[in-house]
Amino acid sequence: MVEKLTWDYVYGCDPVPQQTSEFNKLHEYYEALNEGRLMTTKCDACGQVLWPPRTVCPECMSGRLSWTQLPDEGEIIVFTVQESGAFPGFTLPLIFAYLQFGPVRFIGKIIGAEPEELAPGKKVRLQPEKQEDGRILPAFRLI
Ligand SMILES: [Zn+2]
Repeated sequence: MVEKLTWDYVYGCDPVPQQTSEFNKLHEYYEALNEGRLMTTKCDACGQVLWPPRTVCPECMSGRLSWTQLPDEGEIIVFTVQESGAFPGFTLPLIFAYLQFGPVRFIGKIIGAEPEELAPGKKVRLQPEKQEDGRILPAFRLI
């Protein structure tokens, strides 16, 4: 028998971080996301463009970072379909892709497409997803 998850469990495993300046040093990322822009940090000391956005550069340990905008279009490198085991609040199936956006690569959620439509090399664009509680998550849509 599977027990229903409690809200304590949900908050303990919250996949959506708090996004305001009181809770998050990288709140500018979420503010830009809310405006449809994908931002990350770039190290002012060594020039490395970092993903995810950080407060300290993992290459040279500098804390001198500035915000930089990633290109509007990215490309699918590879993708997968998740058919079970989603966090509460996420509807299955979920599609995730390893994406190239300018100098950085990361895993992103694909929305508005069936797996048959996806392929390596297809172009995607940021399509932020507002959550029920007002927070926002990055997602990507085929162009
Ligand atoms: Zn650096």
